[in-house]
Amino acid sequence: MAGPRTVLIVGAGFTGAVIARKLAEQGHRAIIIDERDHVAGNCHTARDTATGVMVHVYGPHIFHTDDDAVWEFLNAHCAMMPYRHQVKARVGNQVYAMPINLHTINQFFGTAMSPQEAQGFVAAQAEAGEDPPQSFEAQGLRFVGRTLYQAFFEGYTRKQWGVEPSRLPASILKRLPLRFTYDDNYFFHRHQGIPREGYTAAVASILDHPAITLHLSTRAEEARDITHDHMVYTGPLDRYFDHALGRLGYRTLRFEREEVAAPYQGTAVMNYCDADVPFTRITEHLYFAPWEMAQFDRSVIYREYSASAGTGDIPYYPLRLIDDKALLERYVVRARATEGVTFAGRLGSYAYLDMDVAIRRAMDVAQHLAGAFARDQRPAAFVHPV
Ligand code: FAD
Ligand code: UDP
Repeated sequence: MAGPRTVLIVGAGFTGAVIARKLAEQGHRAIIIDERDHVAGNCHTARDTATGVMVHVYGPHIFHTDDDAVWEFLNAHCAMMPYRHQVKARVGNQVYAMPINLHTINQFFGTAMSPQEAQGFVAAQAEAGEDPPQSFEAQGLRFVGRTLYQAFFEGYTRKQWGVEPSRLPASILKRLPLRFTYDDNYFFHRHQGIPREGYTAAVASILDHPAITLHLSTRAEEARDITHDHMVYTGPLDRYFDHALGRLGYRTLRFEREEVAAPYQGTAVMNYCDADVPFTRITEHLYFAPWEMAQFDRSVIYREYSASAGTGDIPYYPLRLIDDKALLERYVVRARATEGVTFAGRLGSYAYLDMDVAIRRAMDVAQHLAGAFARDQRPAAFVHPV
């Protein structure tokens, strides 16, 4: 059957929206549903009704990428405002710069070392351990040595992930750089910014195409009778199969909102590294829109608490511990044997994906689908390795 197809897309986050748009631009029809009453998935932003501050409802989101095509695509749908992310970290009663850089090291040890001296100093503290390091703990001890590891990473990571760092993969810590300069930029990508009107407006613009139909407040389980030629599922992989093989592990987050006088903490994100502070970080949303800060004298903060996701909790971070990976493989086998569905996105592939990676992968998925439709072939269950 050549010609346009109708694709049912579950999930109106970046993944679902970009797939819908790219398919629509190639002459296909997309029906996109989401169980929430808004688009943009976990990147959703909304003005706080009491203060008017633009709030990152499901946690802080900063767009950063080296992928020029992704950056251009996003800029075609919203005005990206310059934004440079800096994070501070509380340890004891001191405030340090994070990621660990020359300022952090000199402040922590009460020294005035040069880049070369600090590099030699940290190298002398590094613990050899397994090579290459497999666990978060081994990576941390090799990366910065025990003193800095225990101060900045151990307590925070136990709170964030709920397991011993020796059980977590090294890849989680590899997301952070270690710098022997005074550069305290949290990210190192060429492009960095935040949409002027928020992420939700950006995703709404992506979905604004005559060949795309959107249904909000609609669960996939209620939409099985919507006629379609193929389905893209960006919800949790185990949920698609009614958790028949068991539940994949996720961390969920709880945000405790407080309205305070502006400014509260003087920066967007303050991490609390000590194990005896129950939350992981405080986000002050005003700082995500520096271009409108002067308008506000009230501020909104979120204290962020992390916990194991139970039934009914929103899944945020995939755990991917050893047991999860074994279960994931069994779900992947099932998914590959299921006709008519392609699984995508951070929940569909049970992977931590930054927004730029989610968009890049979504573009790849759309291209794969359009190619398979043109050749009358069965689309793959997964376009990327899971
Ligand atoms: P989602 O945004 O989760 O969208 C999936 C959608 O599917 C949801 O709206 C959900 O309601 C819907 N859905 C699921 N199941 C069903 C169903 N059965 N029926 C109907 N609808 C369903 N990335 C960055 O680049 N920078 C950051 O600073 C950053 N910060 C982050 C902070 C936190 C706390 C977290 C958890 C993630 C962060 N990310 C960040 C990653 C970012 O959130 C993801 O890249 C992005 O959400 C991926 O989009 P998605 O469409 O794949 O998934
Ligand atoms: N981390 C930490 N202390 C910090 C910041 C980060 O221990 O002050 C650890 C934590 O385990 C986190 C990981 O480093 O999950 C990666 O940091 P990133 O900022 O990418 O965190 P995430 O996106 O997971 O919030």
